[in-house]
Amino acid sequence: MTRSLYDLDPGQLEALVAEAGEPPYRARQLVHWLDGRRQPDPRAMTNLPRSLRARLSERFAAAGLTLDQHQAGDDGWTHKFLFRLPGGDAVESVLMLYPPAGSSPDEDWEGGRRGSEGRNARRPEGRGRATVCISSQAGCAMGCTFCATGQFGFTRHLSAGEIVEQVARVSTLLPELRPGPEAPDHLTNVVFMGMGEPLANQEATWGAAYRLHQGFGLSARAITISTVGLVPGIRRAAAEPLPVNLAVSIHAADDATRDRLVPVNRTWPIAELLDAVRDYVTATRRRVSFEYALMDGVNDDLEQAARLGRLLAPLRVPGSGGHAAHVNLIPYNPTPGIGFSPPSKAAVRRFRDTVAASGVPVSVRANRGVGIDAACGQLRTTAGRPGRGLSDRGRGPRPIPGPPADDVGPGRRVLPLADGPGADPGETL
Ligand code: SAH
Ligand code: SF4
Repeated sequence: MTRSLYDLDPGQLEALVAEAGEPPYRARQLVHWLDGRRQPDPRAMTNLPRSLRARLSERFAAAGLTLDQHQAGDDGWTHKFLFRLPGGDAVESVLMLYPPAGSSPDEDWEGGRRGSEGRNARRPEGRGRATVCISSQAGCAMGCTFCATGQFGFTRHLSAGEIVEQVARVSTLLPELRPGPEAPDHLTNVVFMGMGEPLANQEATWGAAYRLHQGFGLSARAITISTVGLVPGIRRAAAEPLPVNLAVSIHAADDATRDRLVPVNRTWPIAELLDAVRDYVTATRRRVSFEYALMDGVNDDLEQAARLGRLLAPLRVPGSGGHAAHVNLIPYNPTPGIGFSPPSKAAVRRFRDTVAASGVPVSVRANRGVGIDAACGQLRTTAGRPGRGLSDRGRGPRPIPGPPADDVGPGRRVLPLADGPGADPGETL
């Protein structure tokens, strides 16, 4: 079964067009719609003959993603989507919009205005940023104890086409969702930080990454793949010619603590993980970001911070000798029923400063999506298990008003999202 039109290669598209008795250039038009225009719906491909459009939409009626829910937050600067997949499962994608540098007061994670040294200062004037966070699996088999997706369990892998189609659908929705003229009008970044472990679904992940680069024209440095630390996947990433950004979800600096949070640490403990990252850095000369979800009383003590600094400080980019690691601290986004909570702002600050004292660059992630089903996996969790419960929550866009600005605080983010070191590593200190 074809899950998405984006799963068809050029040869298959040509065969499809030939079967319909159409000339070969129609296949090129189809590719232009899919990749150039990011339009997955055959009915909207207006320069194809009506008969071909009807044939394609009938033949692939069961394929593709359907928008089941849409929620807006942050005054329209964050949008969360629940897409239903063929077969009834559902995945989340999140769009985060950022204005051009200096065009509007942007808040840092502490709710204050960003100074000139802040993240916005790194963005060229006149260009905002639009990042989409996409899912690579329905659910996740890694079972991280703090993660709503992990606690929900694994349902299935997404195909490369289903991953790409999330980007296409969000791209085509973006123009009508822009909160104002200063918001970017096209996607600039893609992060694999939604549901699932991308490196447990490597063929589809890399297939999607190449398509996004070659077909959609995104620069490799605009694409970030986040992993919980699957060593064979990191080794493969080192060998892939496409220079995407890599983010590693570390979350603890000793094996006992990491074992409790990230069960896969028992297979690839921290030393092995860092060996693989070191080899990755040596092979690629690229920096790696380390995601660290800060949980009150669990992994936020200063001993962990100092240890994290000691672990990561020796990671250097060959040649330049600069730090290869960048730490992104994410105050935990509370998930009902899971029982972890974010530390106080003062504790976050102390943790950040202790990591910084080791020389390793460190940022605290700003809060996004306050009020729209918070953490990773929550939208699907509240929507019910895959295949049931979704239909009775209503269909189609269901925007909700954004929260008041003073409601922003640590641990109230929609998803822990990062753009990777090559793109925009978050608030600087
Ligand atoms: N499986 C991959 C990518 C998806 S998860 C990975 O784990 O890296 C993306 C990030 O969200 C990970 O760093 C994950 O640990 C983090 N995360 C999940 N739930 C969270 C929560 N409630 N609060 C903060 N970060 C969370
Ligand atoms: Fe899976 Fe990532 Fe969640 Fe762990 S944090 S359960 S790897 S999605």
